[in-house]
Amino acid sequence: MADYLRTLFLHPPSFQGFDGGAGARYQARREIRSFWYPTWLAQPAALVPGSRLVDAPPAGLTLEDVVPLGRDYDLAVLHTSAASFAHDVRVAEVLKRENPRLRIGFVGAHVAVQRERALAASPAIEFVAGSEFDFTIQEIAQGWPLPKVAGLSYRTNGHFERTPERPTLENMDALPFVVDVYHRDLVIEQYFIGYLLHPYVSLYTGRGCRSRCTFCLWPQTVGGHRYRTRSVEHVVAEIARARGHFPKVKEYFFDDDTFTDDLPRAEAIARGLGRLGVTWSCNAKANVPRSTLEVLRDNGLRLLLVGYESGSQAILNQVKKGVRIDIAREFTKNAKALGIKIHGTFIMGLPGETHETIEETIRFAREIDPDSLQVSLAAPYPGTALYQEALERGWLQQSELVDDAGVQASVLGYPHLSRTEIFASVESFYRRFYLRPRKIFGFLKEMARDASVCRRRLAEGREFFRFLASRRSS
Ligand code: SF4
Repeated sequence: MADYLRTLFLHPPSFQGFDGGAGARYQARREIRSFWYPTWLAQPAALVPGSRLVDAPPAGLTLEDVVPLGRDYDLAVLHTSAASFAHDVRVAEVLKRENPRLRIGFVGAHVAVQRERALAASPAIEFVAGSEFDFTIQEIAQGWPLPKVAGLSYRTNGHFERTPERPTLENMDALPFVVDVYHRDLVIEQYFIGYLLHPYVSLYTGRGCRSRCTFCLWPQTVGGHRYRTRSVEHVVAEIARARGHFPKVKEYFFDDDTFTDDLPRAEAIARGLGRLGVTWSCNAKANVPRSTLEVLRDNGLRLLLVGYESGSQAILNQVKKGVRIDIAREFTKNAKALGIKIHGTFIMGLPGETHETIEETIRFAREIDPDSLQVSLAAPYPGTALYQEALERGWLQQSELVDDAGVQASVLGYPHLSRTEIFASVESFYRRFYLRPRKIFGFLKEMARDASVCRRRLAEGREFFRFLASRRSS
């Protein structure tokens, strides 16, 4: 312990209810209360003995709450995002004012791709880590001089230096279990995802995605396009450990970019989980064959989170989704026939979007009829091909990705389709999907079966309609 700096890992407070921490791919306050686990911060925290992980938004912590914490530490590692960066810089400045000896570094996809720009934002920031920062932070916490730490940009004598890139992590089993950090520092009941059972726990079994979707943040910034995985035994052992820590957990979620990128491995993990008898869910691409779905379902799979994005094949091709609409239809039919629930995610305003493709996508969603869905606005994050394309083509009509409340904003506009029309399409999509007798009846049935589900759905319903009303007035 004496060999490590006293280290605080912090997802700073920003917008109230902001689901943009070290586990959120799409950083915004969502339609209903929603928080992903800060897994990207828990990972280095697991490598630094005696550290503490503080995830301010789910815990409801304000700036006044977190500032005193800074006095007790030598090193603070702040996870930031495109949406919250300005807020996070302010938090860093206040922490530094309170404890001038505190060393502060920023991590996260947003700053990994523009390290010097991030350093320039404030003298309170001493260093910014590149893509995978687990061992970068561990070495800094061990007191290594910054010039000797790979994968870093840092401030020195009024200018910035950049150290050599850190090799991509290949031995993923070298990463210790995050569930030990969750157990030590987090309150799992504070984490909600509308379509997951509560309480849930999420973690990664690998990093990287083989697909090259132009809008997708992590594979283009921190994860890469090879799916680097932990061994099956390592994953199953972590879930076994988690069961001991969290007997109340109802569901485990594997938040790998695409858990089904390696089908034999997915099946092997499923069999291990089946032996443990846990309920679990994961991210999947809409092309998993029925034979694999059967193995997963037979071993505890409850739900798949599927990025359909659009019902227009032309748009899917343009954003390099690598999925055919007919295959997505077949996959969905199979999953539903097997009793696997589906949460579908869609994006409005991707390149190529028109009034017609919006209609096509809403019709497609109603036809395949996932159990629930989420509609996001196209978000051109720095570091993605979409961002570059938007800059070059003049589509970026607003720089802030969220509004003053942290809710997603419409920033892309096209000559034939304005950003306000794209913004309005989200509400229309939600209404036409959810306000159908079939959907309402489905929710009522689910609520009638379980009193706790009933209470949760009523609260979420209130939040959802408040959200729709707020969009009307904005
Ligand atoms: S398949 Fe999913 S995770 Fe992979 S690049 Fe595309 S959107 Fe991202």
